[in-house]
Amino acid sequence: MTAIKRVYTFGNGKAEGKADMKNLLGGKGANLAEMNLIGVPVPPGFTITTDVCTEYNQLGPDKVSELLISDVKAAVKQIEELMGMSFGSNTNPLLVSVRSGARASMPGMMDTILNLGMNDDAVVGIAAKTGNDRFAWDSYRRFVQMYGDVVLGMKPASKEEEDPFEVIIHQVKHEKGVTDDLQLTTDDLKRLVTLFKAAVKERTGHDFPNNPWDQLWGAVFAVFDSWMNDRAVYYRALNNIPEEWGTAVNVQAMVFGNMGETSATGVAFSRDAATGEDMFNGEYLINAQGEDVVAGIRTPQQITKIGSMRWAELAGVSEAERAASFPSLEEAMPAAYAELFAIQEKLEEHAVDMQDMEFTIQEGKLWMLQTRNGKRTGSAMVKIAMDMLRQGMIDEKTALKRIEPNKLDELLHPVFSNEGLAKATGIAKGLPASPGAATGQIVFFADEAEEWAAAGKKVILVRTETSPEDLRGMNVAQGILTARGGMTSHAAVVARGMGKCCVSGVGAILIDYKARTMTVGSKVYNEGDWISLNGSTGQVYEGKIETKAAELSGDFGAIMDLADKFTRMHVRTNADTPKDARVARSFGAQGIGLCRTEHMFFEGDRIKAMREMILADDEAGRRKGLDKLLPIQRGDFEGIFEAMDGFPVTVRLLDPPLHEFLPHELNQQAEIAAELGMDTKKVTDRVNALHEFNPMLGHRGCRLGNTYPEITEMQARAIIEAALNVAARGIKVLPEIMIPLIGTAAEFKLQEKIIRTTAEQVFAERGAKVEYLVGTMIEIPRAALTADLIAESAEFFSFGTNDLTQMTFGYSRDDAGSFLPIYLQKNLLKSDPFQILDQEGVGQLVRMGTEKGRSTRPNLKVGICGEHGGEPSSVEFCHKVGMNYVSCSPFRVPIARVAAAIAALND
Ligand code: PEP
Ligand code: MG
Repeated sequence: MTAIKRVYTFGNGKAEGKADMKNLLGGKGANLAEMNLIGVPVPPGFTITTDVCTEYNQLGPDKVSELLISDVKAAVKQIEELMGMSFGSNTNPLLVSVRSGARASMPGMMDTILNLGMNDDAVVGIAAKTGNDRFAWDSYRRFVQMYGDVVLGMKPASKEEEDPFEVIIHQVKHEKGVTDDLQLTTDDLKRLVTLFKAAVKERTGHDFPNNPWDQLWGAVFAVFDSWMNDRAVYYRALNNIPEEWGTAVNVQAMVFGNMGETSATGVAFSRDAATGEDMFNGEYLINAQGEDVVAGIRTPQQITKIGSMRWAELAGVSEAERAASFPSLEEAMPAAYAELFAIQEKLEEHAVDMQDMEFTIQEGKLWMLQTRNGKRTGSAMVKIAMDMLRQGMIDEKTALKRIEPNKLDELLHPVFSNEGLAKATGIAKGLPASPGAATGQIVFFADEAEEWAAAGKKVILVRTETSPEDLRGMNVAQGILTARGGMTSHAAVVARGMGKCCVSGVGAILIDYKARTMTVGSKVYNEGDWISLNGSTGQVYEGKIETKAAELSGDFGAIMDLADKFTRMHVRTNADTPKDARVARSFGAQGIGLCRTEHMFFEGDRIKAMREMILADDEAGRRKGLDKLLPIQRGDFEGIFEAMDGFPVTVRLLDPPLHEFLPHELNQQAEIAAELGMDTKKVTDRVNALHEFNPMLGHRGCRLGNTYPEITEMQARAIIEAALNVAARGIKVLPEIMIPLIGTAAEFKLQEKIIRTTAEQVFAERGAKVEYLVGTMIEIPRAALTADLIAESAEFFSFGTNDLTQMTFGYSRDDAGSFLPIYLQKNLLKSDPFQILDQEGVGQLVRMGTEKGRSTRPNLKVGICGEHGGEPSSVEFCHKVGMNYVSCSPFRVPIARVAAAIAALND
């Protein structure tokens, strides 16, 4: 049996690992090895593998140190030889850094310890060797502080507590009457070390470890422990990083950016991570250690001269002041800068991606501490991919694969300006239900939202939850905030459809409709108060925040063209109005996959006719109401057919239970009764009669059309007449009539018969014909199981994965918000199945339904119109299943187009 290799060394142009070993060495370890191999100066060191982290969690520290000890000793020896120093020496001590490094980068989530190896003897040796007492003692006090916090558990557990070391520093500064760390003398720093150690002894009952080897083992285990700290666990949950991956530990010789005026430290990017501009940039500080650059104590300076000049302009700093007090690295240390510039070019070329790097200059010599593919905004992602394609660095397929489809969202919605966000105060957090940024005044009722908006005000509609009745209020609001409801709640689905910012399920807010207040903790917000929502993060803020409009740059269009070149599936949209249809077309939708006709019944007088139909005693009464709805529906369909200009349009027949169209409050029922010249009691009785205990499983979908065939007749007539009218204007129309909630082939056949008979009648009346299809939603498990029988009649299938998920899991779409977050937290579910298609379970029904359907009708057109149709991993699944198209909200069309193309490339 070959021994397991647990420790990989690197240094002086040699390395045991390399870039493609990220799973074992973590991103940082793999890249440190690779930098050595391509001749970039990196302080020597070694990486303990991620597998050891797993062993550590199983076996504990004692057993793991036994397994590691000889390899670690050998690796430290190698560093000693390369550096010409020795670990634990009094005269020439080697100091090391100990850092975490997981497979995926988890910035700031885990712990780092610098200057390890420092003790009462080493500090004297370093002071003598460098001739710099202050530097030696400053390094020592930093080490005791960092080690105390990270390894010895001195770090405060809550926000209220202060770091005990900071308290001591504060006291010493106060006694001395100074404000800046740099004003502390060497003697002050010596005193700090003594006081820090006393604090450690008092808190832990143990002396601060003086032996460098004890320090090293403590630090290594602390890094392994930090894999399980709250921050890291939370970050992993957010980013779907499995616990099993573990973190590696990197131990590296220390180099110092704080050895005086010829030393510096900084971070740099090979391109701009915010805009994508192909310009080297970054920040640095002279005479500082890494943490000083990010800690915000000193103002970091720009690396390049042009960056520095841009910064000065924004900061209102004159050129004279800039050059004197904030010079760029390019100006202050031209030789080191030139080397750094060449290295960043080399690293980017080698990784063929934008690099995010850390470096230190020790007494004029440049060392690279880290490089990785840089995180970037959505627009930077698009620009960098297209620039690299044009620069010949990558091919078209690679450019496309560089796009994270979900990140395109940022390019499609208005966003908060960075300056605005920096000043904002957060109130609460909910689900990021529909992206974008919104600022407005709180309004609690949909009709008032309309009034306020009509008066030119910007409003945020705040509701416990929304219903279709709120649609118009939602439409005019800048954004929607709900206290309940998940990602497929009514508010969320509708808002996404509208491309409107929505934060849903904000459990921390309490709404009192009577008092017209929204309470968060002890703070009360009133109607008319300003709030802001970030629909991309779920964050709710107090007050107004400045927004800026989204820009669709040329590069974005170019990425879309690439997507079309490689995709196999079409992308359609879910749209109920000509306006939405036009927006979706501008985003490249090739048809409508779902037009929910119920949404058309709420505007203006329509709801009146609808209610008249619902409240009628008999068929004749219902037909009267339907006659009024017919021309309205026909007009809507004409608008949509025109907007889609030759692309197919799937119109779904009425789906929701009828009670959704009636008000539930007595005064509103009385109003309706008066409007329709009816008895209030009759309205109330009808509302009560329509009450269902479980309306989602009740009288809805095709069950409506099969019990009230006249509704289907009216809708079929409206669709066919509209199609004939539009065709007569020379526009190609392809109507696809879709029956909702089919569970048996017989249900389908009855609906189909009504539709085809009506169509034939219209053709006879008009003396003209159009092509049309009749198909069905597959959204009930039974429909998927009997898809072969249904496909004998149905000409197309569209998977309604919202209902299919609801019915397969048995989770109510509208009530799952009460337990889903806890299920996710407890790892009972890997993700919200209403957002990300559950391929393991629901996916089986989708695959089976498709295969069975095509076993009867080989050319059956199959698509998806549930919310999953715009979610990248679900889109990939649809591609694999062999669907013809996916359909999603207009603002998700570009995301789905790229996801579909990438799925095709990955085939
Ligand atoms: C579905 O169930 O997936 C669907 C698209 O229909 P709705 O969301 O309107 O129920
Ligand atoms: Mg449905």
